[in-house]
Amino acid sequence: MADIKDYKIATLGSHTALQILKGAKDEGFKTVCICEKGREKPYISYDVADEIISINNFNEYFEIEEKLIKENSIVIPHGSFVAYIGAEKVKNIKAMHYGAKGILEWESNRTKERRWLLDAKIKLPKVFSTPDDIDCPVIIKFHGAKGGKGYFLANTPKEFYERYEEYKGKEGHEKYAIQEYIVGVPVYSHYFYSKITGELEVMGFDKRYESNADSIGRIAAKDQRDVGIRTTYTIAGNSPLVIRESLLPEIFAMGERVVEASKKLVDGGLFGPFCLEGVIDPELNYYVFEISARIVAGTNPYINGSPYTWLKYNEPMSTGRRLARDIKIAIESNQLEKVLG
Ligand code: AMP
Ligand code: AMP
Repeated sequence: MADIKDYKIATLGSHTALQILKGAKDEGFKTVCICEKGREKPYISYDVADEIISINNFNEYFEIEEKLIKENSIVIPHGSFVAYIGAEKVKNIKAMHYGAKGILEWESNRTKERRWLLDAKIKLPKVFSTPDDIDCPVIIKFHGAKGGKGYFLANTPKEFYERYEEYKGKEGHEKYAIQEYIVGVPVYSHYFYSKITGELEVMGFDKRYESNADSIGRIAAKDQRDVGIRTTYTIAGNSPLVIRESLLPEIFAMGERVVEASKKLVDGGLFGPFCLEGVIDPELNYYVFEISARIVAGTNPYINGSPYTWLKYNEPMSTGRRLARDIKIAIESNQLEKVLG
């Protein structure tokens, strides 16, 4: 039988690295954390890494990749990979890589992403191809905006053009998407689909804690006006959430449809952790505005497991650990190539 002792689990030190590395250790793997110089402390303090490789900048990843390959390290992608290395370059990763690389292209391109989700019969906010068609509250999202920073809202074409003035001509603000703004509560659903077991699991839910969107309610409407506050959505952290139990059947069904639809997009389809990100309105419609085809940071509150993984596993099961278990079972049953992409 192939042995997990012949492999290591490696990831970049940020985003969800703590739970990925801890989960890998709990499953019996040796772990490697690739850190930016000066940012090693959490990985040392929480003792999740058997080895730390320090580089000046995450985009120097390719300079140390040879070492990872030599040592049979399996690289686990997360949000910082695309943010710091870039979606294009992620495709060039030569080390063993958990998850389907091809799918990243579908999640990072809004038009493709929309096609995928529509095919999976997911409810999406309306999009406007030109500001002149705006006839409801909308959110304007600049391409490549990091963590929701710099988005703005408008109600009419006139308002759009007035507010856009501020961004005109600024780098990174030429391209944007205009989406219907759904008034409701944000709900992020965490899934895990294993090709080894063929089962889709609901791992948990979170809501984001965004600055300043989540602080505006702390001051009176008059003060908001007087100070001229604009809503922004800079992510600062995540809070755990459970949803109405009666919504769970549809949550499962949505995940299953997304996995099914992905099989038409890339060879083998989507597998591993993924997340549907959206808003539930007062009529309980769940509008999804984004899919992440990898582990999301909203799973971080559940290093010791979520209420849902507790139901299923009866042992602490984070998404990071679930992923390591998938790899472990794959190795031990000689199917490792099934979880690599
Ligand atoms: P970081 O490593 O914290 O710089 O994050 C890398 C990427 O992941 C950035 O694009 C962030 O916006 C995104 N990100 C980081 N933390 C979170 C979080 N808690 N929730 C959602 N997105 C996040
Ligand atoms: P995104 O960069 O698409 O993940 O969006 C960042 C944040 O903007 C989300 O976490 C939501 O709080 C908010 N948001 C994005 N799209 C919408 C929408 N269509 N309706 C309501 N809120 C939204």
